[in-house]
Amino acid sequence: EIAPHARLEVGLYSPEYDIYSESRLTLMSDLKEALHQNQTQLYYQPKVSLIDDEVIGIEALIRWHHPERGWVYPNDFIPLAEETGVITQLTRWAFEQGIRDLAPLLKDHPKLGVSINISARDLDADELSDLICSSLTRHKVNAEHLTIELTETAVMQDPKNGLIILKKLADTGLHVSIDDFGSGYSSLSYLKQLPAKEIKLDRSLIMDICSNESSRIIVETTINMAHSLGYKLVGEGVEDEQTISLLKQMGCDSIQGYWLCRPIPLPELTQWLQDHYATLEK
Ligand code: C2E
Ligand code: MG
Ligand code: MG
Ligand code: MG
Repeated sequence: EIAPHARLEVGLYSPEYDIYSESRLTLMSDLKEALHQNQTQLYYQPKVSLIDDEVIGIEALIRWHHPERGWVYPNDFIPLAEETGVITQLTRWAFEQGIRDLAPLLKDHPKLGVSINISARDLDADELSDLICSSLTRHKVNAEHLTIELTETAVMQDPKNGLIILKKLADTGLHVSIDDFGSGYSSLSYLKQLPAKEIKLDRSLIMDICSNESSRIIVETTINMAHSLGYKLVGEGVEDEQTISLLKQMGCDSIQGYWLCRPIPLPELTQWLQDHYATLEK
């Protein structure tokens, strides 16, 4: 499957490559309706400290069960939602839902935070921070429990204007995290200008550190450099125990990945948190 934005780069017109083709427009109007009717859900994947096994946060990942197509995954509709602008509605929905889901979890886990993924396009709109603040107030959640994840590619798309909105968001007290670091072309020297305190090392960067010497050196150097600049680091998409222990040895702060826990619906997450802390106490 070619990503929709890759299709845009195809020079010759072909309905199949057109993001505005009928089936893609139908998918987008279905998405708007799904968001409106709460047919979309957020699944959550925990982020766990490599120092003390505390659950630092949960990342919200959208799931959509389409009445005819079945499960449609984010990579199949987020890029199209970005192109068509539907992402604005999706992002609003995600913040409201994520904050609403987090609120009751804070009783048992007062330090927990929720991370919401946003797109470059979301930084076009000044009203995002007002919307977030009103969700936080309504659900009595402090901004420090909220993190926005922005991919390094998104950050690079509009370095100037995006930066202003990003700073406005950070001024509300929420945290900013750079997602998928190592998958694009940004550098730490550029990222330094952003109000981010966390960098997530892309799965592609860390997946072969146990078998590939140069990957190991690159990751270790990145961790050291990022630490010197004051960032916390998250290893993304860790699928085996050896990678976890190597990342721990290298000083990586926390991890997410299937080995620890897949993205799961809220009721399962509540149970997972209980089980995780019960195991720690033993
Ligand atoms: P991401 O933010 O980098 O999220 C991590 C992706 O890796 C998720 O895919 C997650 O399910 C997957 N993953 C987690 N652990 C592992 C692992 O151990 N191995 C492997 N192979 N994969 C793992 P998912 O849920 O399909 O989401 C894909 C991307 O779609 C996300 O990447 C994010 O950029 C975007 N996305 C998801 N939900 C939202 C949303 O609500 N809003 C926006 N704007 N983007 C979203
Ligand atoms: Mg993310
Ligand atoms: Mg990522
Ligand atoms: Mg990603």
